[in-house]
Amino acid sequence: CSIIGYLGISSAAPIIVKGLKRMEYRGYDSVGVATFSEHQINVRKGVGKVLEVNKAVKLDELSGTIGIGHTRWATHGMVTDANAHPHPSSSGEVAIVHNGIIENHEELKKMLQERGYAFKSQTDSEVIANLLQYNYDKTKEIKRSVVDTVSELKGNYAFVAVFQDGTLAAARLHEPLIIGVGKEGYFISSDVLGFVEYTDEVIYPDNKEFVIIDKDGLKIFDFDAKPVQHQITKVSKEF
Ligand code: GLU
Repeated sequence: CSIIGYLGISSAAPIIVKGLKRMEYRGYDSVGVATFSEHQINVRKGVGKVLEVNKAVKLDELSGTIGIGHTRWATHGMVTDANAHPHPSSSGEVAIVHNGIIENHEELKKMLQERGYAFKSQTDSEVIANLLQYNYDKTKEIKRSVVDTVSELKGNYAFVAVFQDGTLAAARLHEPLIIGVGKEGYFISSDVLGFVEYTDEVIYPDNKEFVIIDKDGLKIFDFDAKPVQHQITKVSKEF
């Protein structure tokens, strides 16, 4: 239901948990956070409210300055801890959070299972993690893996992925995604409320565009992999 990603110089998990809390009004059933630290991705998640789950599994104590978070409004798969986002790929080299619905998840899941990619949830979303992993395993190139993945996904989505080298990638098809450019780092969220206390400088990627954020900064492309330029605009602070 809400997604958020952060890459910067501050501790990611507390920023993500605060952002999720601020977006609670949208309604949800589960919550989770993944951060990248010391060459690995760590995931904590569960059914319940942000503060409850945080108390139980200490979402905001995950270390690292790069991370993603999610509140889920279940559409495919029951409300269970396993179905909460983030979803790592079967080898754990990438993890994703997703808003929306992947319509062709069954055929993609079958194709991926036949190729040895294992699934731990009943969600449609988990195919995004394993499809990114599958495409990444083929080319070892993050940008290429996102282009290949979005060409195969049907439905509507905004997703943010964290890769095992600390790169964030995000894409949108008929779901909102907004980038915040702050002094302490980059934010990416379904709603400006996810990061509004840190920056009012925003970029609005268009439908069918994706974003790569890494140590070299931020780049935006269309689904044909062509670079696109966007102005940074100021969001009015009337919240
Ligand atoms: N379809 C996904 C699920 O059921 C994402 C739902 C959402 O947007 O929160 O897990």
